[in-house]
Amino acid sequence: MTDVAGDDALGDRQGYELAAALRGGETSASEILEATLRRIEEVDGSVRAYLRVTADEGRAQAAAVDERLRAGGELPAVAGIPIAVKDVFCTKGIRTTAGSRILEPYVPPYDCTPWARLSAAGAVMTGKTNCDEFAMGSSNENSAFGPVHNPWCLDAVPGGSSGGSAAAVACGEAVWALGSDTGGSVRQPAALCGVVGLKPTYGRISRYGLIAFASSLDHVGTFARSVRDTATLLSAIAGHDPMDATSLPDPPRDYTEGLDAGVGGLRVGVVEDWLSMEGTEPGVRDAFQAGLDALERLGANVVPVKLPHADYALSAYYLIAPAEASSNLARYDGVRYGLRVEGDGVVEMNTRTRGAGFGDEVKRRIILGTYALSAGYYDAYYGQAQKVRTLVIRDFRQAFADADVIAAPTSPTTAFRIGERADDPLAMYLSDVFTIPADLAGIPAISIPCGVDGEGLPVGFQLMGKLLDEPTVLRSAHALEQELAFAQRPALVSSRG
Ligand code: GLN
Repeated sequence: MTDVAGDDALGDRQGYELAAALRGGETSASEILEATLRRIEEVDGSVRAYLRVTADEGRAQAAAVDERLRAGGELPAVAGIPIAVKDVFCTKGIRTTAGSRILEPYVPPYDCTPWARLSAAGAVMTGKTNCDEFAMGSSNENSAFGPVHNPWCLDAVPGGSSGGSAAAVACGEAVWALGSDTGGSVRQPAALCGVVGLKPTYGRISRYGLIAFASSLDHVGTFARSVRDTATLLSAIAGHDPMDATSLPDPPRDYTEGLDAGVGGLRVGVVEDWLSMEGTEPGVRDAFQAGLDALERLGANVVPVKLPHADYALSAYYLIAPAEASSNLARYDGVRYGLRVEGDGVVEMNTRTRGAGFGDEVKRRIILGTYALSAGYYDAYYGQAQKVRTLVIRDFRQAFADADVIAAPTSPTTAFRIGERADDPLAMYLSDVFTIPADLAGIPAISIPCGVDGEGLPVGFQLMGKLLDEPTVLRSAHALEQELAFAQRPALVSSRG
């Protein structure tokens, strides 16, 4: 295998290993960052994970950590670790575009809470990553700034919408990354890029400063190359924030505690209808089955569960998310943020700005959402979709009476070719059939790599947990990860098979 690491492998190490190396004086935050920047230099011309590399800011942050180390102070777990930030998170003084022309010139005057917490703890930002425009998409092809290429197969998509973050972590252009998950945008790209992606309980991580797509569904999530790193990153950013009205009141906690407790006796629910679902690739089914077998070897019991209304989750999502988006995106009017195209009078200025600034998929959703919310159709579409959402929530509650976690493939397919689904929105929307139910219900869910398909492309194994039960999700994912010992790395080749 062509190892992307070359002999400059610092960026390939786990965050917890780097943290130990820093404390042991084996390396410095500046050295770790320089190795990561060299990797970016080497591979990002073909992967294109980043919209902006923040080398100067990163160097200053790394130098500050090294200063703290020299002074002999206690360091937070994330200090000195290079992290990439999806370009939907506001970062003070650093351009933030949400992958959209309409925000192309936008420089936020404040930091989002997740980055504010990381930055206070000494994390080192490598840059802002590419994503689908306003996080609407499953392939990163809806970015106004061009697609990201999957490091496992450069002709393929990395998934979306957080495709840049997933690709960056997969090939060592960052040790971990922030993403957002409204319908699957952390877990699906994590699956397609062979990394770990976590979407915690709704409200667990503050959304303050996350550019809104669909507020009742938007979750902040994480990318890393291990479950232990995932738990470390979560611990650094979770916890109550008075700036987000939906933030949970819970104080911060250490999510790495109890990771090694194993899965003996754990009840793992499986929705059998999902496995026979049309469109699920045999390679995905086989790798998923191997994951279930591994859990059973570890002493877990696989039990059948039913989520009868999950069949309608995708349809409900594609009414609720556009409805909320049509309202959230009304603020881009040429007056307050970003792009402005002058016109004769304010309405013409608004119209021209929005016409030029938004891409096709965003326009499609604004139209759909406005229609679903309009008088006369509201009850038939939006109201009905909300009822379905309630039924999905009830289904999960019932299923979790018989199971401690629910397992499913993350995505029905592995990475598909760039362009393959670009003209078929319905096929694209199907990428999220297995991830959307957990967003509608607000429950925690993780994707970890569980193998590769016949083409050598990674497959994701999803574990969903009860509301607030991140510890069980992380513990079972960690146990499975150890048992599967998935160690393949992306080869940065153009085509496979
Ligand atoms: N792919 C889904 C969509 O296009 C989910 C996106 C997301 O989670 N942000 O809406």
